[in-house]
Amino acid sequence: MKSNGMSFSPMRCVFTAAFFTFSASVLGAAPYTVSGPENAKPHERTAMEELSAYLGKRVAGTLRIGGQEGIVFRVGDTELAKRNGLLSSQLPEEKWVIRSFGNEVLLNGGGPRGALFAVYHFLEDYCGVRWWSEFEEDVPAPGALELNALDAQGKPAFAFRDIYREQVGSDAARFERRTRLNARGGAKFGGAFTFGPPNFCHTFDDYLNADKYMKDHPEWFSLHKGKRVGGQRQGQLCLTNPEVREKVLERMLAYIQQGNAEAEKNGVEPPRIYDLSHNDNQSYCECDRCKEAAEKYGLSGVNLNFVNAVAGAIAKKYPNVLLCTWAYQYTQDVPKGGVRAADNVIVRLCDTDSNQISSIAEPDNRAYYDRVVAWSKVTKHLFVWDYAITFSKGLTGLPFPSEFHYGDLFRHYRDNHVSGIFWEHEHPYLTDLWELKFFLERKLMEDPDLDCNRLIEQFMREYYGPAGQHILAYRKYLDRIRREKKAFVSWFPQLSAFDYIDDENVAACNRMLDAAEAAVAGNDRLLARARHARQGLDRLICLRSCPVILHDPAQKGIVVKKVPGFDAVKARLTTDWPKWIRPYPNSENLIKVEMDRLAKAWCSVVSPLPVPERFQNNRYYDFPAFFLSSHGKPGQEILVDDPESPVGRAMRTSADMSHYFKLPFAGGVYDEKTKRNQGSGECAEVQGDGYRWYHICKAKFTPTSYLWLTRAWTTQVRTGNYRELSGKEMDVWASVKFTGPMFRPGATGKSYIWIDRVLLVLP
Ligand SMILES: [Zn+2]
Repeated sequence: MKSNGMSFSPMRCVFTAAFFTFSASVLGAAPYTVSGPENAKPHERTAMEELSAYLGKRVAGTLRIGGQEGIVFRVGDTELAKRNGLLSSQLPEEKWVIRSFGNEVLLNGGGPRGALFAVYHFLEDYCGVRWWSEFEEDVPAPGALELNALDAQGKPAFAFRDIYREQVGSDAARFERRTRLNARGGAKFGGAFTFGPPNFCHTFDDYLNADKYMKDHPEWFSLHKGKRVGGQRQGQLCLTNPEVREKVLERMLAYIQQGNAEAEKNGVEPPRIYDLSHNDNQSYCECDRCKEAAEKYGLSGVNLNFVNAVAGAIAKKYPNVLLCTWAYQYTQDVPKGGVRAADNVIVRLCDTDSNQISSIAEPDNRAYYDRVVAWSKVTKHLFVWDYAITFSKGLTGLPFPSEFHYGDLFRHYRDNHVSGIFWEHEHPYLTDLWELKFFLERKLMEDPDLDCNRLIEQFMREYYGPAGQHILAYRKYLDRIRREKKAFVSWFPQLSAFDYIDDENVAACNRMLDAAEAAVAGNDRLLARARHARQGLDRLICLRSCPVILHDPAQKGIVVKKVPGFDAVKARLTTDWPKWIRPYPNSENLIKVEMDRLAKAWCSVVSPLPVPERFQNNRYYDFPAFFLSSHGKPGQEILVDDPESPVGRAMRTSADMSHYFKLPFAGGVYDEKTKRNQGSGECAEVQGDGYRWYHICKAKFTPTSYLWLTRAWTTQVRTGNYRELSGKEMDVWASVKFTGPMFRPGATGKSYIWIDRVLLVLP
């Protein structure tokens, strides 16, 4: 066997020539050779390694391509590529080419990632290899492989493709390259199309840090409600202040230098994009100058004028660098007065108010549809930041069949010249049919003209085997009922958003999912997948089974309702789900958090709670500490045992961590639909030692309301999750203990707020 430059032996993934000779003599004539250029670059070596490894798993016996045997794969910038004008420098970036020349097969592509994409396409499209997630792949059983002569090519439709995940393994870049995403990866994976320092979003505070500069230069920060405010959560910059432009430009030039130096050190291309976008809050500047500019150009126009000014100066020194800014929340609408983004500015439009369960082509998403069109007319580079996940704590992963209209969405993006997609789809172990949706997302990012329904059918067949047809029926059923009931699932939905699946629908879905399980009984791998497909519905059943404790002097006892089939649900969620999550980093903790959440539903027997004397003759809903959820920063609030508490446990807040925990203590009932408090109140003084009852407010509860406590809104009860509270007007009482010097003069040590119980007292 002759090869050009570096060669691999089939069935092995080893580089040395010594091994190659050895294996050839032992194994006899191998059916193929993998070879690359003389001085292969790191990404070309990875491409050869990956090809060898998977061919080793896939091919046993004959490999015949276009009637030829003794196949030689030529990966990367080989002599064959040179002879045919297919070098990486001659092809458009990320374009990949797979072509046979007699018994030689060329696998190469443009830029540092093209050859990798050619190899991964060959493995996926011709060898049947599937990468479903970072931790799950399918490779057909080893056997003969016979293919027609090869001549295929492609180029991803969107230049920037990022599916954001949080819990990623140490080899995340490999998985992302296999699935043709391009926002991460070192030299081994051909680098990335990515952002330079300081960060990829919300960077105003990185450029001019409020903690550092507010004292001496308050005029650099936003004047909001009559006060200068700055920082990631509290404020913005004053964008019409010329000094701010100068300072930001200075910092950005330094960041670009830093980014270039880091890239050179790592042997990758320099970062292409530098972010310059507002902090994550709505406190934009209302100084006279900014106000006047906003009237003329709109808030997005004020932002773009600022970013354009910085971009103009950057272009002189770094003509290839792009600046990225937001069209997000207060800047989401296009500017007025003829403002456009400069040619080196990317506008990244973020979709926060669409109905995730329906298509962008349906009337409820018309506003976002139009916004994409409008922005495409005022910027050369349009990126989007979109969501495939529902964020409400504890409600992530409930079923919503968004997959059927992914095709509409990606085509709308392509038709409106969107060139980059940042897609938030974190929590792969928890979200609704993550593997299916991920498969569609990454396929459609490469080619939005692929038929989405056919991709879904392919996935169902390949991933679930004989269970697939039943799971597809379940998803189509969900899509039908959501249309009939005009369901609306926002990015922060309440449990009531899933009321489109009523009890009768749950029973129908369970019948289909039972059939799916039965279809793959005896096949452990497929059965695990079929059972995992039930997770969203199971969690919905579980959350609906959370007991509501109603104290009624006339009618002693606690009513606990349970949905039929609850025991099977519990068995799946407590045994299968932890197994599924095990490969993910930090899984122990993830399992604990989720199990704690679901445990509220497991507790079919709540030990009798003491009845507070002052409420003896009242009817009230009782939420002991166990039912409170923390929305504080990590470590700020924890559920602890407290012998001083009549209920034994309390949500303990570390008050020293924020000035928002100083008195007055506050609380309220907030409605997410109307974005207003249904009622709220403050308690200015500590009543005394130990737990005391504080009257917070009177409020009417709705299906979209939740109860919050502390001025930082950190302790919450998701009251919307309990259907029977809706429409009732009740008094909110909280049992709270305040300890430490912040609250008790003369006390020492740390300051804490302890909340052990909340009562909603009926009239
Ligand atoms: Zn201003």
